[in-house]
Amino acid sequence: MSTPSSEPARFDAIIVGAGVGGLYAIYRLRRLGLKVRAFEAAGGVGGTWYWNRYPGCRCDVESMEYSYSFSDELQQEWHWPERYGTQPEILRYVNHVADRFDLRRDIEFNTRVKQAVFDSDSSTWTVTTDKGSVATARFCIMATGNLSTPRRPNYPGLDGFGGKWYHTGLWPHDGVDFTGLRVGVIGTGSSGVQSIPIIARQARHLYVFQRTANFSLPARNAPIQPDKERAHKAEYPERRRAAYDTPFGIAGYPPPVKSALDASEAERQRAYEAKWAEGGSISFLYSYTDLLLSKEANETASEFVRRKIRATVNDAKTAELLCPDSHPIGTKRLILDTEYYETYNRGNVTLVDIRSKPIEAITPVGLRTADAEYALDAIVFATGFDAMTGAMKEIDIRTDAGVSIEDKWEDGPRTYLGIMMAGFPNLFMITGPQSPGVKSQMILACEQHVDWIADCMQHMRERGFSCIEAEETAEDAWVRHNNEVADRTLYPLANSWYVGANIPGKPRVFMPYVGGVSAYKKKCDEIACNGYEGFRFGARIEEWRFAAK
Ligand SMILES: Cc1cc2nc3c(=O)[nH]c(=O)nc-3n(C[C@H](O)[C@H](O)[C@H](O)COP(=O)(O)OP(=O)(O)OC[C@H]3O[C@@H](n4cnc5c(N)ncnc54)[C@H](O)[C@@H]3O)c2cc1C
Repeated sequence: MSTPSSEPARFDAIIVGAGVGGLYAIYRLRRLGLKVRAFEAAGGVGGTWYWNRYPGCRCDVESMEYSYSFSDELQQEWHWPERYGTQPEILRYVNHVADRFDLRRDIEFNTRVKQAVFDSDSSTWTVTTDKGSVATARFCIMATGNLSTPRRPNYPGLDGFGGKWYHTGLWPHDGVDFTGLRVGVIGTGSSGVQSIPIIARQARHLYVFQRTANFSLPARNAPIQPDKERAHKAEYPERRRAAYDTPFGIAGYPPPVKSALDASEAERQRAYEAKWAEGGSISFLYSYTDLLLSKEANETASEFVRRKIRATVNDAKTAELLCPDSHPIGTKRLILDTEYYETYNRGNVTLVDIRSKPIEAITPVGLRTADAEYALDAIVFATGFDAMTGAMKEIDIRTDAGVSIEDKWEDGPRTYLGIMMAGFPNLFMITGPQSPGVKSQMILACEQHVDWIADCMQHMRERGFSCIEAEETAEDAWVRHNNEVADRTLYPLANSWYVGANIPGKPRVFMPYVGGVSAYKKKCDEIACNGYEGFRFGARIEEWRFAAK
């Protein structure tokens, strides 16, 4: 890499991020013969699974599904021990992939990209890192992740806290021992719900500070039986293909055929009980066709889960506080847990309602809410992420035509297919806003985008096009379509990170595409087949390859 005083290093493509998306991009673009360079802020590969090392961190898509499909050898040789992969197991897998395909040699670790500027004369991006180094490439690929910008706590008094505090998304690598400590966990989203049962087993006392109760279902995690693994592996190619034909990009769940309102109360209870016993969120949401479309239908499922909470939690007041009342089930990320609600029956766990009595400050010895003081030795912030736009907006992305991402996304993200943005030629996003990314099995979503991008580059190379850009009208239509599709569902009713509600001041815009993986992929494929409809190509050039190999 060059320093500011020397010539920038030249690549065909720069990839920002080495999570599962960035890694596959390295692999795929290398196979096109391109010279690539990835920059990664972390000290290793894995993205989400590198950073989120909190106790209990686990995938909520079954591990046989949550894995790469691009290499049959890889999917046949890897053994997943449990139904849902733990963070250490998934990180081990991602490291195995990086080694197996020799991906590390093109990654610069511990290096954060601070700026990316497009020059229209040369159709190239110039990228500057926090080390001051500069690199140039024809293409820039943002594999920066949807849940990679932890929401840092900004409570008054935090700096003066005498104990230790942690964010689940930036967990220390050598772990944390809470034995004998008074611990406060702030936040009851997925990370909070996964970590609370484990922290409760260690801590002297655990206080859970809850603003919004969320729906959580039992994961029913267990070892994968060898015969199940063999059967799954024997059908892997068919299952991967089938996954692209489903709403959430996950195969193996029979799609629902009936409205919840067409079933009798007794029939519904039987169906929900069976799904509850089976475990898993897709299966539960697949109980009926309209759980995410009709409030009345949804309420039957929401109330079923509330009844389960009341039946599990001994203290009636605590149980009532844990019953979600602010959103229909499934409209926020549906959580999977292991003994979450049971944890509140322990003598050393207290649930504190901070919706009615908000946190006012962190004190040197703990935390003060509107009506009480809590003495704490450690605080865990399970406060989530500046989702979907945070990582991109942290980079100063601009063009020589004076367009910046800051301005472009001032009122919320605008993209064409979640892959490109009008005004930013040759800049691709992997699982960008307005694509199904976070509403799907994300490794599959990353593979689909990378494959599409690689095919597009191939198309450009064959025709000698120097650049590609999304057309404004196509982008406008896609943003409109994204919103229309979301408005036909119950999703926008929730104050979720899908609409940026967890970040004060963030524009309220529904960000993921919820028209389903199947419809989305068909659309992407059609657009490519029709000569990249809605995209404009730049001047033809003699020498397409930008960097000498
Ligand atoms: C706790 C947790 C559990 C999850 N569970 C599931 C699940 O069960 N199923 C599922 O499908 N998805 C799940 N996800 C979503 C998960 O993020 C994706 O599955 C997947 O790992 C995303 O991969 P990625 O490469 O797109 O992004 P990431 O894994 O987020 O990687 C992005 C990388 O980019 C780097 N980066 C960002 N900005 C810069 C910059 N400016 N310069 C250099 N590097 C940068 C980051 O350091 C990071 O390593 C979960 C997410 C979290 C946080």
